[in-house]
Amino acid sequence: MARKTRVLFLDRDGTINQDLGTYVKSRDEFVLIDRADEAIADARAAGFMIVIITNQAGIARGIVTPEQVEDLNRYLNELLSVKGTFYDRCYYCPSHPDYPHPEYDRFIECRKPSPRMVEQAIEDFRSEGIEVDRSGSFFIGDKLVDVECGLRAGLRTILVRTGHNEEALCIERGVLPEHVADDLYQAIAGYVLPSVSR
Ligand SMILES: [Mg+2]
Repeated sequence: MARKTRVLFLDRDGTINQDLGTYVKSRDEFVLIDRADEAIADARAAGFMIVIITNQAGIARGIVTPEQVEDLNRYLNELLSVKGTFYDRCYYCPSHPDYPHPEYDRFIECRKPSPRMVEQAIEDFRSEGIEVDRSGSFFIGDKLVDVECGLRAGLRTILVRTGHNEEALCIERGVLPEHVADDLYQAIAGYVLPSVSR
């Protein structure tokens, strides 16, 4: 019988680390948003697994390499380890519809708002005997595409006001998250954890 688990699916840039308005390429450009690491540690302590779901079209655009993205993902876990925590999995989409690339076009279907990367993560957990409880899991991000991705995957959704803060755009498009929080720490400490301990 599969073990059931709740997952926090998290966008990366603008949600966990500061969005510089361009693609983050190096470790010195990768700066955690205040208390994001603490929030992830608290969520894990409460039983959540952590999955990063990120669009990295800078790869198809030739601005950043897959090796750089993977190094930054490793660096994130190094930073989290300072708080005694870590993320479980990370999925990134290298493609962009406006920047065709022979190597990356086959991944275009993964790009958020498509829920494809979430579905892949759920499938990968399943292959390890872990069943993701979607109704108890969340997608948290700073953009409309994050909210849409979470909704399409049947997850609970939270928009954070860091990064691009697309709260107004979400309202305009009628793509409404369950909750809006000032940042990841407020999302988790102020909303996720109280809502699951009720
Ligand atoms: Mg973002």
